[in-house]
Amino acid sequence: MKEFIRDDVYSLVEDILAKVLDIDKSEIHANSSLINDLGAESIDFLDVMRRIEDELDILLPDANVFEYLTQKYGKEEFFRDCSLNDRGVQILRRAMPEIEPERITTDTKEFDIAGLITATTFVNLVERYYDVASWKPDKCGRCGSIQTSQIDPDDDDYIDLNLPIGPIFICRNCGELLIPPRPEDQLYEGVVSQSADL
Ligand SMILES: [Zn+2]
Repeated sequence: MKEFIRDDVYSLVEDILAKVLDIDKSEIHANSSLINDLGAESIDFLDVMRRIEDELDILLPDANVFEYLTQKYGKEEFFRDCSLNDRGVQILRRAMPEIEPERITTDTKEFDIAGLITATTFVNLVERYYDVASWKPDKCGRCGSIQTSQIDPDDDDYIDLNLPIGPIFICRNCGELLIPPRPEDQLYEGVVSQSADL
C-alpha cells in the first residue's frame, strides 16, 4: 500500500483481530475496548501489530506512547503515583484521538491504558507510520546544507546502525545522517510547546 486508505486499513485490522482473538468480525466495533469488551490480553496486541506490519510491510510505533516516552523522560514526567498527571493526560489525548477526551483524566491509571485500545487505535498507528514515511528533511541539522539524498537502510554501510522507522537521508556536504522525528517525540513536543504558550 503506497498511501494510507483508512477503510482498507480498518478492514485489514478487523480481519487480523478476528483471527488473533478467534472471534467473528461482526463482534468487533470501531470503539469496542479490545481488552474489556472482546477479551483480548496485552500479549495479543504484539501479535496483532506484527501481523499488520507483515501485511503492509511497515513498522509501527508502540501502541502505548508511554513505553518510549517514560524511557526517555522518566515516569514522573507523565504520572503521579500510578495515575496520569496533567502532561500525561494531554499527551494521551493526542496519542489516542479515537477516545473521547473526557475518558482520559488524572484518574486514569497506567494500568487502564491498555484497556482503552480499540480497533481504531491500530488504524491510527498505521496512519502515524504513513506520516513518518513521507518525511523529508528541509536541510541538514548539522551544517545547514540542503543537499541531501535518501539512503537505503538495508545497504551494508548502514545495516548495523539500528535506524528508526521511516526514511533516512544523508547530508551530501557533511555526511550527517538525517532521521525523521519519532511520532512520540512529536506528540511530546506539541504538548510542551502548547503549555509554554499559556
Ligand atoms: Zn550537513
